[in-house]
Amino acid sequence: MRALNYTIAESADAAVSSFAEANGAARYIAGGTTLYDLMKLGIEQPAHLIDISRIGGLDSIETGGDLLRFGSRALMADVARTPVVRDEYPILAESLLKAASQQLRNMATVGGNLLQRTRCLYFRNGAGSASAVGVYPCNKREPGSGCAAIGGLDRAQAVLGTSDSCTAVAPGDWPVALTAMDAKLEFLGPDGKRSIPIVELYRLPGDTPHLEFNLTPGELLTSITIPKTAAGLTSTYHKVRDRESYAFALASAAVAIEMDGETVTSSRIALGGVATRPWRSEAAERVLNGQPFSAELALRAGQAAFADARSGQHNAFKLELGARVVADALAIAAGRRA
Ligand SMILES: Cc1cc2nc3c(=O)[nH]c(=O)nc-3n(C[C@H](O)[C@H](O)[C@H](O)COP(=O)(O)OP(=O)(O)OC[C@H]3O[C@@H](n4cnc5c(N)ncnc54)[C@H](O)[C@@H]3O)c2cc1C
Repeated sequence: MRALNYTIAESADAAVSSFAEANGAARYIAGGTTLYDLMKLGIEQPAHLIDISRIGGLDSIETGGDLLRFGSRALMADVARTPVVRDEYPILAESLLKAASQQLRNMATVGGNLLQRTRCLYFRNGAGSASAVGVYPCNKREPGSGCAAIGGLDRAQAVLGTSDSCTAVAPGDWPVALTAMDAKLEFLGPDGKRSIPIVELYRLPGDTPHLEFNLTPGELLTSITIPKTAAGLTSTYHKVRDRESYAFALASAAVAIEMDGETVTSSRIALGGVATRPWRSEAAERVLNGQPFSAELALRAGQAAFADARSGQHNAFKLELGARVVADALAIAAGRRA
């Protein structure tokens, strides 16, 4: 049995200080719905857990003014049922409600969802409880060991943003919706506060897939802000998976559009389940903007999103499926215009 220190932080400043004192061997814990899993699998082995689940203010949900602001430890379930989110930003509510299960959403936080690690079969399987090395090579788990997914069971793997070292899919639904909505993330770290666009949080795997986030050790996510926009009303998060609930995406699309009559005047499109990070598709947006909406145009936009995709042995279906998911999402969003 390994010793584990456990600190309940009373404030964000205290959490950051405790992390610094642990010399890199710490992890923040919020809802614990994924970190405890990874600890049981031996993939995460922190010597110090810093519980942030009781920090006052980090659970706030603010919907007045020009921004939506969610404290990082607001629960997924609470954000999804917030009236403004539910009624004016279906893209956000649906991305939360189509993730995990109600029991998990009652525990899991919107911040933890952004920072969860991949569900890649080879990353998670075979690690065992005694060793993080595991049965299968995985460059994300054990840098330099190789990637068993490449040439292996790759049906669930990414087709966009992959490298010769890693094809693991970014798992979260909520980060895809936030990417389409140009969310910003606020952090408190040892060097103070900073705010970054969500697209800057996630790294492409390249030849360092074990480095997943552009964060310095000990940075605590404090809040998520989203600029309010009329496009929220004509938006959706559309997710296709192996079963209708309680499963990660095979392909998903978060879309928000604005239209003048039949013409699409602006669009935001992000993809999930198909890429190594939440994937904004400006190529798809370019196809749509300024054009009269039609099913044919929507499918062309979807196909443009996958023009640079690279499939393996068993996941080529994601190119066709992903394009159709984008097209269907656009049809749902367009159908919501007043
Ligand atoms: C069976 C199952 C099915 C699931 N299905 C889906 C799904 O379909 N779609 C989906 O999107 N997700 C799914 N999930 C994942 C689930 O949504 C996440 O486990 C959850 O959102 C994580 O939130 P948490 O608060 O429990 O995070 P924790 O487990 O507490 O933490 C997760 C990670 O984030 C870090 N962290 C947490 N908060 C902060 C912070 N404020 N600052 C810095 N670091 C922080 C932790 O150190 C840890 O590394 C599923 C999970 C399970 C177990």
